[in-house]
Order: sequence, then C-alpha cells, then structure tokens
Amino acid sequence: MTRIDGLINREFLCECGRAHFVPIQEIRSWDGPIPPVAFDGIFPETIGRSALMLCDAHTKECANDGVAKTLRDGGWKLKVREFVRDRLVNDEAAVGAAVLDADSGVDVIIAVGGGTVTDLGRFVASRVGKPFALVMTCPSMDGYASNIAAVSIDGRRRIFKDCRYPEAIFCETRVMRGAPPDLIRSGFGDMLGKRASLPDWVMSRHFTGERFCKRVAALMDESSMRCINGLDGINSRAAAEIGTLTEALLLAGLSMAMLNDTRPVSGSEHMFSHFMVESAMDAGLNVSHGATVAFGTLISTLLYEYLLDGLEPADLAPISGELRKYLLPSRRVADLLVASGIGAGVQRHLYGGDIAGMIRACSSPGKRYTVLRYLADSGHLDRSIRYALNALEEIGEGA
Ligand SMILES: [Zn+2]
Ligand SMILES: [Zn+2]
Repeated sequence: MTRIDGLINREFLCECGRAHFVPIQEIRSWDGPIPPVAFDGIFPETIGRSALMLCDAHTKECANDGVAKTLRDGGWKLKVREFVRDRLVNDEAAVGAAVLDADSGVDVIIAVGGGTVTDLGRFVASRVGKPFALVMTCPSMDGYASNIAAVSIDGRRRIFKDCRYPEAIFCETRVMRGAPPDLIRSGFGDMLGKRASLPDWVMSRHFTGERFCKRVAALMDESSMRCINGLDGINSRAAAEIGTLTEALLLAGLSMAMLNDTRPVSGSEHMFSHFMVESAMDAGLNVSHGATVAFGTLISTLLYEYLLDGLEPADLAPISGELRKYLLPSRRVADLLVASGIGAGVQRHLYGGDIAGMIRACSSPGKRYTVLRYLADSGHLDRSIRYALNALEEIGEGA
C-alpha cells in the first residue's frame, strides 16, 4: 500500500499550512496469511505479550482462527472473546463484556472484523487505556484508520470522536475478496459519497471560510474515482479492484486523521445516511451505512444539479467550476447505484420514505455547512426539494 506508507507515522508540513500527523505505525496487506512477525514492533517495547482478541463468530473460519494461530505462533498469550449473536451491536452488553475481559493481565487488544468489531476494539481500548491493532475482514466503510467509534447507548447510536488510533491495521487480500457482497457494496457506497462531501467542503470554504486542504481533497477525489472506474472489478471481486477499494477506504480514514475532522469524507450525504440509519433503528430495522451514503449522494447531487444547472446563482459563480469537478451527473450516480447492487429506490433506504422531511431535517441551523444550508439560507430549499423528488421518481429502480 505504497500510497499509504508516506502518510502514516511521520509529520509533514502541508501547503494548507498545517502539520499533518497520523499516529498509526503500520498498515499492510498480505496475499497469504498474516505472518506471526507482523505483530512484532508495532506496540511500545514496554508492553507485554498478552492480547485480548475481539471478534464476531461470523468471521470465525475466514479470519478469527487464522489470526489467533498467528498470534499464538508469535508467542502471544491470547484470550479470545468471540461474540455469537446473530448481529453484533456495540451496545452496553458488548462493551461491558469486552471491558470485563480487558483486565490487568491484558496488554493489548486486537480487533478482528468489520466496522462494528473494530469500533468496539477502538472504543474499549480507549476506555481501558491499552494499545490496539485491527485486522480488517471486509472493505465495508472508511473508519478503520480513524479515532472515531460508533457505540449504541440506550438504543441510540452515539459517535465517540476521542478514541485511540490503532497501532496497526492488517488485512489479507483473500479475506477481503471473500467478504459478503452487501459489505463490499457498503464500502463502495462510502467512497461514492466523496462526490458530495468534497463539493460540500468547497461550499463551506467559500461561504464560511472553513479551512481546506487541497492535498487531502485531491487524495479523496482520486481515490473515489478509482473505485467508481473500477466498479466492474469490485463487483467481480478482482484482486486489483478490491485492493483499490480497501486502500481508498483506508486513505479516507487517514484523511480524517490528517485534519482531525470528518469534513473531507462526510457532508450532506452522510447527514442523510445518519438520518436513514436512525429512522430504521427506531423501527427496529437495520440499513447499511454505505448504501444509505450512496443514496444520500444521489439526493445531494440532484440538489447541486438544481442549483448549478437550473438556478445558476451569482454567488456560486466563483466556485461552480470547482464544484463540477467533484460532482458526477445524477444519471451517472443513479446508474452506479444500480450497477453496484445498492439500488436507487427510496423504499430500500428510507423507512417511511419521507425524503422531503429528511432534507428539511438535515438542513436545519446548527448542522455542518453543506449545500443544504446554502439552499435553506438562500430561500431555495422548497423548490430544490420538489426538483429532487420529481427526479427521484423518474429515476426509480430502473435507472
Ligand atoms: Zn461513511
Ligand atoms: Zn494539508
């Protein structure tokens, strides 16, 4: 992962005026099994060799048993907490069990899994003050290389932005290629989302003076386009394209880490996603993060289209070229949703289907500045919503 190596574990002064530093020692993938020596040298030397491994039973055969063997072969004393629920949620019970296991005899925590397990490892390691490493089992989301964890408390999803970074992130190409299709789609959806988060960042720079980093924006622009152009290979699980997706998701995490902010990877499309995920949770349902991000990207794109192709307001003229550089035509976004298997139909993603209500809720004052705040502040929200609803109706599932 050569594009990653230059960005971790070294401070560099960027042309944006900030010094960027990502405190992750190593990020690596292997075509074969992870070798026992991989875990040497990534933790501080004073740390002992007793590890608590957190994992989900769903990855037992493809990953858990292999990583446990690797650690034991490497001389680690190992305690394994394998969650056996149908669907693991990082609720009080899961966090409590992991904290109870992470007693004084445990030196480090190794999380083996996807977004949920690795968030659990990140959160628990932070709370008990122990270093940790991640072994990814699917290219499903962009938070692996971050210090952010989602935990559920009293049935509500809460985001903790003050967690530790992993000392290392490892994965095996074979495991990533064998991940369930909906998780690979989710990762693709998260990267498609950069077609909305980047223009939203430009909008905020222009209208609020928010700091911008050209280097990070270019990194996300390029990574997102590599995934979009490689969708056929991602769908067929080709090694090269699954590697591209994995690397892009890791680079997105590093982008957040470099700026200590989710801004480069999360704009209006993620606000829509969070709204859809919470609406589903309220109804006792589960919807995919990345799929809702992708569908949110379609809505954001339509709102931009209303502005740039229809209204063409004078105050957007200085940045319209830059916005268009990041945006894709809505028809292309819709085609990508269908081609990736995510689907472009409202009913798949938003429980209750009230798109207008969702757009209004996400454009309320106090939310991060995006195209939504611009539309609300300039009095164009209602008309842009009507435009988006009509367009979504035309697009439907058959895009
Ligand atoms: Zn995301
Ligand atoms: Zn910078």
